[in-house]
Amino acid sequence: MSDFLELIKSRNPGEPEFHQAAEEVIETVAPVLDKQSKYRKHKILERMLEPERLISFRVTWMDDNNEVQVNRGYRVQMNGAIGPYKGGLRFHPSVYPGILKFLAFEQTFKNALTGLPLGGGKGGADFNPKGKTEEEVMRFCQSFYAELIKYVGHRIDVPAGDIGVGGREIGYMFGMHKKLSSQFTGALTGKGVGWGGSLMRTEATGYGLVYFAQNMLATKDDDFKNKICLVSGSGNVAQHAIEKILHLGGKPVTASDSSGFIYDEEGIDHKKLAFIKDLKNNKRGRIKEYVQKYPSATYHDTKRSDEANALWNIEAQCAFPCATQNELNRKDAENLVTNGIQLIGEGANMPLTAEAIEHVIDNDVLYSPGKASNAGGVATSGIEMMQNYTGSYLTSEEVDNRLKGIMKGIHDDCLRAAETYGFQGNYMAGANIAGFIKVADAMIAQGII
Ligand code: NDP
Repeated sequence: MSDFLELIKSRNPGEPEFHQAAEEVIETVAPVLDKQSKYRKHKILERMLEPERLISFRVTWMDDNNEVQVNRGYRVQMNGAIGPYKGGLRFHPSVYPGILKFLAFEQTFKNALTGLPLGGGKGGADFNPKGKTEEEVMRFCQSFYAELIKYVGHRIDVPAGDIGVGGREIGYMFGMHKKLSSQFTGALTGKGVGWGGSLMRTEATGYGLVYFAQNMLATKDDDFKNKICLVSGSGNVAQHAIEKILHLGGKPVTASDSSGFIYDEEGIDHKKLAFIKDLKNNKRGRIKEYVQKYPSATYHDTKRSDEANALWNIEAQCAFPCATQNELNRKDAENLVTNGIQLIGEGANMPLTAEAIEHVIDNDVLYSPGKASNAGGVATSGIEMMQNYTGSYLTSEEVDNRLKGIMKGIHDDCLRAAETYGFQGNYMAGANIAGFIKVADAMIAQGII
């Protein structure tokens, strides 16, 4: 398999995140390929690692000073074997094809795990929404979508949000979609509830993450009561993870953004969480403003990414990295383990480095990969698509119950697949194997295309 990984690296130079995601899957599905020769015969892994389509386009827009700005937009349509491509759009200066290919590859497995008919995709732009005015964000979204619409559609490819793309950006893009297509179809998910969106979509990724963790704890006859929880990020996923931890009796004590983190030893309660939501979603402020409002908390600047992050050196029972890829390195994992961490649930996509994962698995920490534990967002997007197709809408309780059922299903599938192939209790291996088999069998059934 190492020759194969070298081939992938040489065919995709300068894309370390994609290599990392590929390596993890290649290693864990090896026993499946050994046992079932059809997957090697049909070159399934080779095909899965090559995007069906990678679209790159220019996005030109005018800023508030009437200056022309140029960004790069992308859509990666990774794998459409089990349904229309589905995956978020990320607006962040770090966006380039390697990041989107890693995200689209992970998304293919994640979507398969949900049990819904959704293929894998991802897209975005190297646009930085930070510091931009409302009008600039709107003009950018409109220009971006005017090109993207050529490649997407409600039975073709259905984008959603991701870092830098929330309800506001989806709204501007959906407006453009309607104007250019003259159709009110569910071409994007994460829409507002009054105009085709699903109740609970906003909450779904964070809530789903904590439901998944609840299932993991239950395997040890344990629950969230009084568990101290570390959460990174302060965006959509982090906010709703904190909220659900509170519902289940846990005690979240941290939140962060790309500048630093806050530590509130007394716990972030519902009132403090409402402050964070308003600060980040409406005022678009920085997390350090939390300590001005709640002086019992402390603020700490973020260190360089190759150094240990003090956030992960706080004594706690559960940790939920919900910011971005590779935010938790080997040293952080060592600190967590030394401090007695019991569970690490990935809310972000690939927030642990490969070395960090190895360390926590070796130390018998309950660990769930993002492609399993953050699948609640895309699952609820799938439920939004179904509601758009049928025109009949579910209540919050109905969506929440489906979400709980889907997260339990993914949890159990991961454990079952892991056990079948000799990786008892390893959720990462189980997620890769269960997702792989579902997509691989569909690819074989559909022939060499
Ligand atoms: P948001 O944009 O709402 O929030 C992102 C958060 O992460 C912000 O607090 C941001 O801080 C922080 N962050 C972003 N980049 C960095 C960085 N380089 N270093 C440190 N902190 C950073 O995004 P989401 O909450 O939607 O997404 C968070 C993660 O969850 C991503 O990995 C995403 O792919 C994943 N995810 C999201 C889903 C969803 O439904 N939204 C579904 C499944 C996965 P700042 O404000 O400073 O930028």
